[in-house]
Amino acid sequence: MKKTQFKPVVALVGRPNVGKSTLFNRLTRSRNALVADYSGLTRDRHYGEGRVGSYPFLVIDTGGFEPVVKTGILKEMARQTEQAIAESDVVIFLVDARAGVNAHDHEIAAMLRRAGPKIILAVNKAEGMNRVQATAEFHELGLGEPNPISSAHGDGVVDLIEKALASLVNPVIEEETEEEFVELDEDAVEAELAAGDTQGAEEADEDEDFQHRIKLAIVGRPNVGKSTLINTLLGEQRVIAFDMPGTTRDAIEIDFDQGDKKYTIIDTAGLRKRGKVFESIEKFSVIKTLQAIEACNVVVLVLDAQSEISEQDAHIAGFILESGRALVVAINKWDGLDEDKRDWIIREFERKMRFLSFAKLHYISALKGHGVKALLKSVNEAHAAAFRKLSTPKLTRELRAAVEQQPPPRKGIFRPKMRYAHQGGQNPPLVIVHGNALDAISESYKRYLESRFRRVFKLEGTPMRIEFKSSN
Ligand code: GDP
Ligand code: GDP
Repeated sequence: MKKTQFKPVVALVGRPNVGKSTLFNRLTRSRNALVADYSGLTRDRHYGEGRVGSYPFLVIDTGGFEPVVKTGILKEMARQTEQAIAESDVVIFLVDARAGVNAHDHEIAAMLRRAGPKIILAVNKAEGMNRVQATAEFHELGLGEPNPISSAHGDGVVDLIEKALASLVNPVIEEETEEEFVELDEDAVEAELAAGDTQGAEEADEDEDFQHRIKLAIVGRPNVGKSTLINTLLGEQRVIAFDMPGTTRDAIEIDFDQGDKKYTIIDTAGLRKRGKVFESIEKFSVIKTLQAIEACNVVVLVLDAQSEISEQDAHIAGFILESGRALVVAINKWDGLDEDKRDWIIREFERKMRFLSFAKLHYISALKGHGVKALLKSVNEAHAAAFRKLSTPKLTRELRAAVEQQPPPRKGIFRPKMRYAHQGGQNPPLVIVHGNALDAISESYKRYLESRFRRVFKLEGTPMRIEFKSSN
């Protein structure tokens, strides 16, 4: 098996108002806004998947993981900046072409120079200025050639990212998983539809894929019980292998088998082997968590039943949703809770984590081993759903049935016409709908289609995406 490599992390650093969040939004702009409906979640995002340039990467905006205390803005900024620098592969230091160099820029530059990460200096808001004009005074920061960009308009952003990532040793190359999802051949589909396709998705998936190892990330904030859960999972099984990382971007992986299933746990918390058990020796890292989510197939999100669901839980959940990974939720420390406490945490979850309703929920005790077998069963099911093969005739037939039952509403003079559906990817399942005037399809109609596909193809435990391709 190929070793898992984490995606490189790019941190955006700079004083307030230079355009960090504008750049962040440009770099992470979603191709398919899975999270559009959950604006409350995404408004204050600070980490995301990079979608610009040739290499995959993660971006963090150091502008505020936590609310900045007014009285100590610089102190707080410094703390966050330092953490981000320590954990990232390259720092993009933003300054403002219009405001010019100021004292805070110098302070940050000095800090960066001391910390010694790889730094790319970006001079933002440079639209409409020539290169020399925009960058001249920033040479004095002593951080090499300044790169003029406009986060708002996009000028220079692709070049900037290419430059930031190109010099990293061995940047991760995106796996070409899409290759097998071929272009739609309409005549062939019509022929298959006419012949009557009996091969359902359910039959198709049984014999596929399941020789693969399931890559599992067990994530959650500190002290929810992640290492306890990992030890419980491993306790009963044979640990096949435990790999120490070669470089900072190699994932720590623990392989184990159970029955005929093979799993690899991708570590988030710096587990180290001590005798027969694993223990966490590093402090919790948001970045490691994000990298593990990116690198896995199925996430187990661990929450603590004995404390309230926090902002940090919600942030991690939001990232999981955005990543498109399959998900199982474990509410841990269920032992020793009375009825009232149990009711309370269930309501708490329903109120704050409604957007995770596609995932199965388990109440477990990692310490006592309760519920852990069932949890693993849901992991298997979520994995199967995420990799399910969806046949074109079956998808198309389901699409047409959905339209017949409830046609998409007109939008102005446009009448959307949906004709075919085929699968464009896995983990998460991507359904591509072909037709005309599909820009006019509303979000609510898209949700209607999604719920039908989910039901028919049994897509529990995985998010799914629908994309529309209009031929005119
Ligand atoms: P942050 O505090 O560093 O995250 O900065 P923001 O991204 O919130 O941007 C601060 C202000 O600068 C906002 O009013 C942005 O619209 C503006 N801004 C950001 N990028 C550009 C740019 O490329 N050109 C111009 N003219 N304005 C920009
Ligand atoms: P991590 O930081 O998420 O890896 O959390 P740990 O696995 O280190 O657990 C943190 C604390 O919670 C430890 O004291 C564990 O013994 C305790 N803990 C973990 N799982 C359970 C559980 O199911 N029930 C109870 N009561 N305590 C637990």
